[in-house]
Amino acid sequence: MQVRKQFAIIGLGRFGSSIAKYLAEMGYEVLAVDDDASRVQEVAHAVTHAVSADSTDEEAMKALGIRNFDVVVIAIGQDIQSSILTTLILKDLGVPYIIVKAQNELHGKVLNKIGADKVVFPERDMGLRVAHSLISPNILEHIELSDDTSIVELKVSSAMIGKSLRQLDIRQKFNCNVLAVKRNGDMDITPLPNESLAKDDVLVIVGKNDQLTKLEQAYAEV
Ligand code: ATP
Repeated sequence: MQVRKQFAIIGLGRFGSSIAKYLAEMGYEVLAVDDDASRVQEVAHAVTHAVSADSTDEEAMKALGIRNFDVVVIAIGQDIQSSILTTLILKDLGVPYIIVKAQNELHGKVLNKIGADKVVFPERDMGLRVAHSLISPNILEHIELSDDTSIVELKVSSAMIGKSLRQLDIRQKFNCNVLAVKRNGDMDITPLPNESLAKDDVLVIVGKNDQLTKLEQAYAEV
């Protein structure tokens, strides 16, 4: 039997508590930690264990057996010193994978330097997403694979309706690959080159960011 991953979430603001609740809802074992007892109370009903503790107290973290968790998310934003100290302590205790929320670029740099496995910038990234959706309303989803390559979900625009993938010739013209076509909630991962696209179809495309932008602009509604 496959053993399910165990997660600990430290810092139960909006970001941390939504991660904790979602993982618990998905059936994972979740330890939720905050030094503010009222925050702990708010999530206690939803998660496996909820504990009031200061994550900068190494002994308290040892007592919680924090090193036995597969992934620890440190979701302390405002108190940068606590976030950094907690990361150092958990690293020293041997936590296998640590994800930390950063408040700004400099905070992120420090976290990377001291060994955080992944640093996330939720406010910055959501801001960028919203801005991007204003400029490119046909891009429904955007997943960065690397600095210059992404997968996007592109809503079929009126200029594409009735045309086939062969006619659009996206690979030749934009150096991008159509991985799948989403239609009525179904994902067709082997789309036929001659099949006509219909209204509300969504293309899942991989490509370089500059090429994806060109493609999106070429078919943008005027
Ligand atoms: P969000 O944007 O996710 O709502 P926030 O930025 O408003 O979060 P933060 O100040 O980042 O709030 O703190 C998130 C939580 O982390 C708070 O509930 C706070 O009590 C908790 N926290 C801060 N320092 C520690 C610490 N040393 N140990 C445990 N919890 C802490």
